Amino acid sequence: MKILIKGGNVIDPANNISEKLDILTDGKVIEAVGKDISSPDAKVINAERLTVIPGIVDIHVHFRDPGYEYKEDIISGSRAAARGGVTSVACMPNTKPALDCEALIQYVKNKAEKAGIINVFPVGCISKGLKGEELAEIGELKAAGAVGVSDDGRPVISSILMRRALEYANMFDIPVMSHSEDLGLVDGGSMNEGYMSTYLGLRGIPKAAESVAVTRDILIAEEVGAKIHICHVSTANSIDAVRQAKKRGVRVTCETAPHYFSLTDAACDGFNTNAKMNPPLRSAEDVEAVIAGLADGTIDAIATDHAPHHIDEKNVEFDKALNGIIGLETSLSLGITKLVNTGKLTLCELIKKMTYNPAKIIGTDRGTLSVGAPADITIFDAAEEYVVDVSKFASKSKNSPYGGMKLCGVVKKTIANGKIVYDGGGKE
Ligand SMILES: [Zn+2]
Repeated sequence: MKILIKGGNVIDPANNISEKLDILTDGKVIEAVGKDISSPDAKVINAERLTVIPGIVDIHVHFRDPGYEYKEDIISGSRAAARGGVTSVACMPNTKPALDCEALIQYVKNKAEKAGIINVFPVGCISKGLKGEELAEIGELKAAGAVGVSDDGRPVISSILMRRALEYANMFDIPVMSHSEDLGLVDGGSMNEGYMSTYLGLRGIPKAAESVAVTRDILIAEEVGAKIHICHVSTANSIDAVRQAKKRGVRVTCETAPHYFSLTDAACDGFNTNAKMNPPLRSAEDVEAVIAGLADGTIDAIATDHAPHHIDEKNVEFDKALNGIIGLETSLSLGITKLVNTGKLTLCELIKKMTYNPAKIIGTDRGTLSVGAPADITIFDAAEEYVVDVSKFASKSKNSPYGGMKLCGVVKKTIANGKIVYDGGGKE
């Protein structure tokens, strides 16, 4: 079915477009972008006063499939993504079994393709079984469709294993996506070290647990000349390490998650386990540094680290609760509310960090509205306010700290590969 999107405010950072235009899709790819397009046989979507962007690309999600389908699976995760305006995700390999061989990468791809909702790009393991001992067959993973390698959820403790991973990934031209963390410094901590950890009587995690590891990983990548992508940066010193490395020409990119620019460790008050994640929520100065890093281009991408957990895994003592929150259904509105409406980023800059930049990091041709590109398109109302209601989430899990919060920006329609995969109503 052809779709004609009329009169929307089209933002396509890849092509430097930010103006009122029409978009025509032929049922699969984008056929035309311009003024006054007509097509008698197309379904018309009236996008007057709405914003039209490339479908969001989220390069850090956990779909828990195979192995933990009670938290999320590829189908429910895809629906949550579509509801959040996300049309492509890179899913992390810490499943059970972990995605460390061709058959498991194929499993994820096949299940996602059969579901036919969004594009799911698997990330393969760095080490076999995520054990940190022996390298996975990175060439085989890439050939099967992995867009990167990561042991996300845990760091690669051995520096020489990290070096070998970077060398192999470089040969196959995919990024190592590093969960950079020094477990020695974490030392059993469960939240950021600071006033709030003292107040709650919880063991704190020093910021150096992240920045020391980020620095190590950057230095190894620099020596090898390989691409490295640092996942979920949260501290001022990590961001500065990336900033300095970029100045030296290191092939480093990094992402942050919406919770690192919208919340501080104060959210842990009352032993709120929906504010427990890894890396932990940090101080107000770190939030400022994250926003500054987004604004000056040090931080390339916003990714959610969507981490679904069952309520029984969160409804326990703080230090026993599992790490992570879901994020796919709130990322766009958090970006609009906390970055654009506060004047920190333009809407175009925000969209670039949620579409074009992350697409480039994982080497996909998505994240643009170029003619001929796959028709992945998100239509939203940038001015509409809503109160987050976790019971309406499409995700199987509800572990979000944003329930009850008033945010701005409502997704109206999500189109993936030319098909409407989420319809939130609105004008037609
Ligand atoms: Zn991680």
